Amino acid sequence: MPNSIKSVLFATAIALSPFSIAQAQEDAPSQVLFTNANVFDGFSPDLIVGANVLVEGNAITQVSTDPIDAPNAFVVDVSGKTMTPGFIDMHQHVMLNPPEGTAAYQTRWDDAAGGAIALQYMNDHMLMKGITTVRDIAGDPLDIAKAIDMGLVRGPRVYSSGGAIGQTGGHSDWAGRNVPPATLENGQDMGQLTSNTWVTDGVDDVTRAARLNFRRGAAFLKVMGGGGVASEFDPLEILGLAEDEVARAVEIARDNGTYVAVHAYHDESYDRHLRLGTRSFEHGFLISEEMVRRMVAKYNETKDIVWSFQCYVSVNTFGSYETMPAFFTHEQKLKGVAVGEGVRAMSKWMNDYGMFIIGGSDMFSPGLVEKIKEDIVCPTSVGFSPAQALKHYTGNAGIVLKWSGPKDPYPTYHLGRIAPDSYADILIWDGNPLEDINLILDESKLQLVMKDGRAYKNTMVESDSIMYRPAVREPGVYP
Ligand SMILES: [Zn+2]
Repeated sequence: MPNSIKSVLFATAIALSPFSIAQAQEDAPSQVLFTNANVFDGFSPDLIVGANVLVEGNAITQVSTDPIDAPNAFVVDVSGKTMTPGFIDMHQHVMLNPPEGTAAYQTRWDDAAGGAIALQYMNDHMLMKGITTVRDIAGDPLDIAKAIDMGLVRGPRVYSSGGAIGQTGGHSDWAGRNVPPATLENGQDMGQLTSNTWVTDGVDDVTRAARLNFRRGAAFLKVMGGGGVASEFDPLEILGLAEDEVARAVEIARDNGTYVAVHAYHDESYDRHLRLGTRSFEHGFLISEEMVRRMVAKYNETKDIVWSFQCYVSVNTFGSYETMPAFFTHEQKLKGVAVGEGVRAMSKWMNDYGMFIIGGSDMFSPGLVEKIKEDIVCPTSVGFSPAQALKHYTGNAGIVLKWSGPKDPYPTYHLGRIAPDSYADILIWDGNPLEDINLILDESKLQLVMKDGRAYKNTMVESDSIMYRPAVREPGVYP
C-alpha cells in the first residue's frame, strides 16, 4: 500500500473515532435559531419571507414570521438567503456503482469495493451537495445506512428496498450468458452475491425474497414490471413479474404496512400494477396519454399512488444515441433512444393533468452521480415550474417516504419540509432558487447543509465558530 494512501486511511480513522464523534456532538449547540430566512417549505410556490426557524436537537420545532423566544439558541442570521428542505433523491442505487458499469460487479469488483465507493459518493456527491435523504430502490446499502445513522460514517438518510425482485431473464438478472442462471437460494451472479437483486420465479420465490428484504430492514419493495435499458436479456416491451407474483409482492408489502414500487415503461405493465395495488410507478416513459389519465384519476380518488420521474437520464442521457453511457451496447443504446422520445410527451401529460410526482435521479455511476442535482433542475426544461421541480425532491418525496409505515427507519418526524415536527434537514442558498433554479448547481451558492440538526457544511459563520463547517471535508477535524 503506498504511504499516501496509508496516511489518508490513518487520518480517516482518527476522524471517525468514537471519541471525536462524541466530542463533536457534545460541542454542537442544542438549539439553533435561523433568523430572517426566506423559506421554501417544500410545497408552496410562495416563499415565507422573513421567517425565523428554530431547530432543537434534530428537529424543526418552530417556523414563524414573529420573533421566536429562544435565548440560549445559537443564532444564524440568514437575511436575503433562501432556506429549503434537504433534497430527497427518490430513485437512487448507491451500491450499483462500479466504475465500468453495474455489470462489472460480475468480473472486476467485489462488494467491499462497492461499499467503499458507495460511501465516498454518498458523502461527496449526495450529503455535501444537499441531498440529505435517498430512497435506494434496488440495492442493499442497509448496513451502510446503519453505520451512517450511528454516526460512524457520513452520508444521507437511506430508505432502501433491499434487493430488487425480478424474474429469470428480467431486469434483476445480471448473470452473464455463460454462467449458470441464478436461483433464489443459490445465486451465483453478481446481483445476488451482493444482495442487490433477487432472481425469482413463482410466488414462493417472491415471498421469500420479499421477507428476506424486510428481515434486513427494507422500507418497501422494488419489483421489476418490465424490461430495462441497462440489462441484457429483456427488451423494454416485455412484462416482468407475472400477475400472481405481483399480487404476492403487494400482499407481503401490505402485510408489513408498506408498499411496492415498480420498474416499468409501458401501458401493459403499468396496467397490471395499477390493478394489483402497486403504489410507486417508476419510469413509465413509453406510456400513453390514456394511461396517464387513468393514473391521475386513481390518484385523485385514493391519493395512494405516485409517478416517479427520472428526468435527466431520460431527457438528456437517453436523449440521443451519442449521449448514452459508453458502456451500453448498441441494443441498450437503441432502448435508451426510445425512452428519450417517450418521456417528453408523457411528462407533459403528467404535468397537464396534475399527477402527484416525485423526483428520483437514477444517477449512480461515475459521470452521473456527480450531477444528481441536474435531475432536480431538469423538469423545468419540459414545462414544470421551479417550485414544482423542488417539490418533487422535497415535500412530495417526504409524503411518499412515510408510506413505509412501520418499516419507516426514521419514523419520528416529517421529511422534506420546513415546518414544525420535521427532521432538521435544512439547506441555505445564497440566492432564490424559485427565481433561478440553476443556482442549485453552483456549490458555492450552497452555504449550509444540515442533516438531523447537525451542520455538515456551513460557510456563513466565522471559521472559529462552533457552527463552522468547511465546504469540503477535512479529515481529522470533524467526524
Ligand atoms: Zn433505477
